[in-house]
Amino acid sequence: MKLETCETCRHSFSWKQISHSLWSRNWKVTMITCRKCRAVHRLREESKFIALLPGAIVMIGATWLIVAEASLFAFILLIAGSMASSLVLPYFASYEKVDRAPFIE
Ligand SMILES: [Zn+2]
Repeated sequence: MKLETCETCRHSFSWKQISHSLWSRNWKVTMITCRKCRAVHRLREESKFIALLPGAIVMIGATWLIVAEASLFAFILLIAGSMASSLVLPYFASYEKVDRAPFIE
């Protein structure tokens, strides 16, 4: 697994940068600025659903567990599973370079 790199200089974004960008609901923060060449990148449209995945898993899973009258252990397993999935999410996020970002500096 490999993290997304800068389109201009191929410098790899950090896990923390991408994770922060995925979890942010502030559109300015979802942009990632390359630490090496300052090129600004944004999350590709098709990658946006990735950020919603852990929440969706919990919602669908919890509904199913309630219907099936599952044990507390099953719920804990579900929460643990969604947390684990959020740890690997940054590896699947794809970014594209934005030419102009007038709101940044
Ligand atoms: Zn760069």
